[in-house]
Amino acid sequence: MTSKRVYIAYTGGTIGMKPSSKGFVPESGYFTEQISRLPELAYPDMPEIHIHEYENIIDSSNITPNDWYQISEDIKAHYQDFDGFIVLHGTDTMAYTASALSFMLEDLSKPVIVTGSQIPWSQMRTDARDNLITSILLASQYDIPEVSLYFHNRLYRGNRTRKVDASGFHAFQSPNFPALVKVGSSIQVNQNILLTEPRKPLSINRISEPKVVVLTLFPGFSSDMLKAVLKSGIQGLVLMTYGMGNAPCNNLAFLQLLQEANDQGVIIVNCTQCLKGGVDMSSYETGQKLQNVGVISGYDMTPEATLTKLSYLLSSDYSLQTIKQKMQTSLKGELTRISN
Ligand code: ASP
Repeated sequence: MTSKRVYIAYTGGTIGMKPSSKGFVPESGYFTEQISRLPELAYPDMPEIHIHEYENIIDSSNITPNDWYQISEDIKAHYQDFDGFIVLHGTDTMAYTASALSFMLEDLSKPVIVTGSQIPWSQMRTDARDNLITSILLASQYDIPEVSLYFHNRLYRGNRTRKVDASGFHAFQSPNFPALVKVGSSIQVNQNILLTEPRKPLSINRISEPKVVVLTLFPGFSSDMLKAVLKSGIQGLVLMTYGMGNAPCNNLAFLQLLQEANDQGVIIVNCTQCLKGGVDMSSYETGQKLQNVGVISGYDMTPEATLTKLSYLLSSDYSLQTIKQKMQTSLKGELTRISN
């Protein structure tokens, strides 16, 4: 065993679930017991591990910003004593959590790897074993000072990931950014693209319960729906648009509503419905009209990164102007500016 130490925060998810009459459900104590008896922990390359099972382990569909805060506080409380951190999590909202943690853990200088599995540990063909063992190795032996997500032989920047397959092992992709690490018979780290290590100590940015909404456009979308959403008093709107950030420019009521919302201080971010590529509102009239009413570009951010970043910024004391400027700037490597 090396002298390294890895802290495992076990929040729930399929990885530790057991079959029941209600379908797969988390069962407290079961998985923690399984990990501590893992034969691979005796290998010389393995660090010492410490598993912390949360009091209420959950299916990740139940995750909330309060849980993100609990995970962040937990990492902070154990930060000095461990070389790396693993967050065991359900896959359904894993990309949201990985994105949120990337904005919440300010000045992170140690690896924080979020992982889980598609098949529970208890089942014969589980993918949990590899995801966990490789995450433990990466968290202990590599200097990757950021929040990442490990799944099926790839370590990705957390805030670049999306769940793209409901059941396949290759469940996550990072459509607009290369993998940080490729794992095969050798482990290849893409050193040039890692975030640089900060000099300041770790601190936490809390995400409160912000009034943020994601709205997906579709042909036949009625501006009355937008009106109803805006009436509810939201602070931020992620508008999921077509292609390079386009929306129906002949729908004047729709544009008028966006203009009014912007004038009232609602931050409206344009995010593409496409899996790959990003927003460039200068390309088409249908994009420029959005820009003209104050919609800002989400560039190539994932919807998960856009939503959690906007939520984090709206939970801060920043002015509207600063929030808009930060939304369009890369804070944790979540965005590449395509143009303008
Ligand atoms: N429903 C599960 C969860 O997100 C799915 C999984 O873990 O793969 O907790």
